[in-house]
Amino acid sequence: MTVTWPTRMDHDTVAYWEGLREAKLILCRCRECETWIHPPRACCPACWSDDIGHESPSGQATLFSYLIQPTAPKQPPEVVGWAELVEQKELFVVAPVEGMSFDNVEIGAKLTLGFREQGGISLPVFSAGEEK
Ligand SMILES: [Zn+2]
Repeated sequence: MTVTWPTRMDHDTVAYWEGLREAKLILCRCRECETWIHPPRACCPACWSDDIGHESPSGQATLFSYLIQPTAPKQPPEVVGWAELVEQKELFVVAPVEGMSFDNVEIGAKLTLGFREQGGISLPVFSAGEEK
């Protein structure tokens, strides 16, 4: 499976980036078959429709996989999670996970989406645990 994560704004990713300016996760969703689509695409991978809308998921997820990312010298490494959103099987958002470290990271753990201000934009970040 080839996955291209949104790294710049173009026709397909403008809603994603505009959402992050307001600390909202906006994903593509097919208006024909209701499949959530991320990374953004102009065509539904399930039914090939080009009638693509945009919606905000609940922000609830489980940790599907992760990597340990070095940060600054003398700082603890960061857990970067491959989070599967509860809206759909294999709907993933990759983002740092706060509240987890190399010592306590746990596949299948419940995660809640939040945002981290960085360089004038709010980037997705997950925290361990369910929304209260
Ligand atoms: Zn579709």
